[in-house]
Amino acid sequence: MSGENCIFCKIIAGHIPSKRVFEDDKSIAFDDLNPQAPTHILLIPREHVDSLDKASNAEELGDLLLAAASIAREKGFAENGYRIVINTNSDGGQTVFHLHVHLLAGRPFVFPPG
Ligand code: AMP
Ligand code: ZN
Repeated sequence: MSGENCIFCKIIAGHIPSKRVFEDDKSIAFDDLNPQAPTHILLIPREHVDSLDKASNAEELGDLLLAAASIAREKGFAENGYRIVINTNSDGGQTVFHLHVHLLAGRPFVFPPG
């Protein structure tokens, strides 16, 4: 597990610009560069973990999900709802190998996605 050459580690370090919408001591959240919904936020742990498959810290994972719910609530999405996605490895569509939670909101979602 390494953050070397990881674009999200570079975003955390401020070496790549991002539009931050939230941060605390454990995680940061910023707007996705290629939004798939009116609101599309990525929430990532400050500590580099390659993917959900490599995650082992239940408290950190729980904190990440609770932070996502908190951001959604603060932005007024709780009532209508929102979608949380964690793409994992190749078939999961993961392209950036630093664990991240997608928070998608502002339009209805159907399942399965088109
Ligand atoms: P995934 O396909 O689940 O790995 O998601 C990676 C996400 O990162 C995609 O939705 C990209 O649009 C997004 N992304 C890639 N580079 C950046 C960047 N520099 N700033 C913000 N979002 C990015
Ligand atoms: Zn990283």
